Amino acid sequence: MALLVQKFGGTSLGSIERIKAVAQRIKASKEEGNDLVVVVSAMGHTTDELTNLASGITIHPAPREMDMLLSTGEQVSISLLSMALNELGKSAISLTGTQAGIITESAHGRARILEIRTEKIKNLLEQGKIIVIAGFQGTSLGMGGIAEITTLGRGGSDTSAVALAAALEAEKCEIYTDVPGVLTTDPRIVKNAQLMQNISCDEMLELASLGAAVLHPRAVEIARNFGVTLVVKSSWENLPGTILTSKRNHLISEGGIEHRSPVDGLELVEDQAVIALSNIPDRPGIAAELFEALSEGGVNVDLIIQATHQINKNDITFSVKEDELNNAYFQCQKLISSIGGEISTQRGLTKISIYGAGIMGRPGIASSLFQTLSDSGVNIRLIATSEVKVSCVIDSELGKKALRSVGEFFKLNDKQITINPIAENNNEPAVRGIALDRDQIQVSVKNVPDKPGTASTICSTLAENNICLDTIVQSERKHKDKTKDISFTLKKNDRNEAKYALEELISNWEGATLEEGNSIVRISAVGSGMPFTRGTAGKIFRALANQKINIEMIATSEIRTTCIISEKYGETALNQIHSCFKLGKK
Ligand code: ADP
Ligand code: ASP
Ligand code: MG
Repeated sequence: MALLVQKFGGTSLGSIERIKAVAQRIKASKEEGNDLVVVVSAMGHTTDELTNLASGITIHPAPREMDMLLSTGEQVSISLLSMALNELGKSAISLTGTQAGIITESAHGRARILEIRTEKIKNLLEQGKIIVIAGFQGTSLGMGGIAEITTLGRGGSDTSAVALAAALEAEKCEIYTDVPGVLTTDPRIVKNAQLMQNISCDEMLELASLGAAVLHPRAVEIARNFGVTLVVKSSWENLPGTILTSKRNHLISEGGIEHRSPVDGLELVEDQAVIALSNIPDRPGIAAELFEALSEGGVNVDLIIQATHQINKNDITFSVKEDELNNAYFQCQKLISSIGGEISTQRGLTKISIYGAGIMGRPGIASSLFQTLSDSGVNIRLIATSEVKVSCVIDSELGKKALRSVGEFFKLNDKQITINPIAENNNEPAVRGIALDRDQIQVSVKNVPDKPGTASTICSTLAENNICLDTIVQSERKHKDKTKDISFTLKKNDRNEAKYALEELISNWEGATLEEGNSIVRISAVGSGMPFTRGTAGKIFRALANQKINIEMIATSEIRTTCIISEKYGETALNQIHSCFKLGKK
């Protein structure tokens, strides 16, 4: 008999009729001979409604009381679904997170799962019962030894389900939802978004954390780390859905379900060069022209960043392999001679990267990397971050020294460190999905000192306040007073705390200022084949230019390209980029 963990989301449980329909589905699965652990979310919009109730009382509810409140939503669903199953003649029992043995850290509202004590679940399974568990919640030992209810963060039921599948070594974890599976983009915005039969965990991790709400990124992180077979499918139709694939398979004992060592590996790629274009016109179409010319000229660009502009002028910086530098320079020069601006190049660079699914949501990891580099006297020329990887381009001379210090800091062994790895081209598509994130704001810290450690100080100040920076862009150009600008995006929710922390920090730097940009969205294209496909960036920028959409910031990692654009163009941009890669249904 196979053990399956099945999770049903809020919309699938939005009414009594739906709960009954879900119960029928579970009954059929039980009759096929499966052992079942079912994880549920709160009904419909219950969690939002509970949040609204609290905000009618206070804008600063105590996190403990918020968890007490929000966890009731799931408790309603488990009891009703168990009743519905019992009514259909299937023996079911509901368990809260605490009763199910889901132990978390004590951080209310964003607790990570430490372990799941599975004895009780196993006993009940042996009795042939269907076990219905409240998602999104767990328990921690609080002050004075009292067990406290914790929640995992919005969307966290997916994470409960995958963690249970990992702890119980279930055959698979099925996420049932209101769409047929993972689609090329959000079908609510792009009508012809297409179902993917499969997607890698690395790609999904990026998409999920860049706005694709269909899966909680932490659920993908666990699936990736423990090799859980994860399937996303429709609650209403009996179709195969999307399978998430992962190469890894760790044992559960390696330090807690969500608390494994966050960094798995370290990589050094030598013979890199950087080209910086500065003072180029800030208007739609420039980035498209540049990257189309590079692609047509045979240059494969690696990392790209575009810093916020200063009064109609932009800086675009990108990295290429050193042996492509001359050609890239030639292409840039042709463009600059018609549009104006300056070019500078630098050879003899190395890219150092740390990777691991646990980097996501832990702001301290990137900041520790920057700090370790700055402690070793290494200046960072270019930063690229993704959910699973942080890369810095640095001087080659200091490459090996940096490798040693970073390896020691993250306690990595020789097997986890690679120099000039050979990337495997499995002919994956350059772009598999597009995500739109409307939950970010853009912040720039202007006129900061240009010396090792500045970026790391900004990141660590935010990290100390548990604020994650996304899309960090460090401008290449120095101001007359030798200062620089650093721009980044962060979650809307963190706005006030971030401002408070940063204002205090920059008061130490003479002349430095903090600026919040206009309302923006992040739009990202993700695909494992991106590093092997020339011209992907150019195509994205062209799709935006055709709609006269100006790009405010560009940031890339190896498998994604992100553009920050004005909020009002978000949906148009999503549709255009989706169709320029022909991702839609015919
Ligand atoms: P549940 O209540 O089942 O957890 P969610 O609302 O959290 O469901 O997630 C499903 C929603 O995610 C879909 O209705 C869809 O609008 C949205 N979504 C965003 N991006 C994608 C995508 N790439 N594929 C599928 N759905 C997506
Ligand atoms: N009910 C919680 C929420 O709405 C958890 C979940 O649905 O996954 O965020
Ligand atoms: Mg969800």
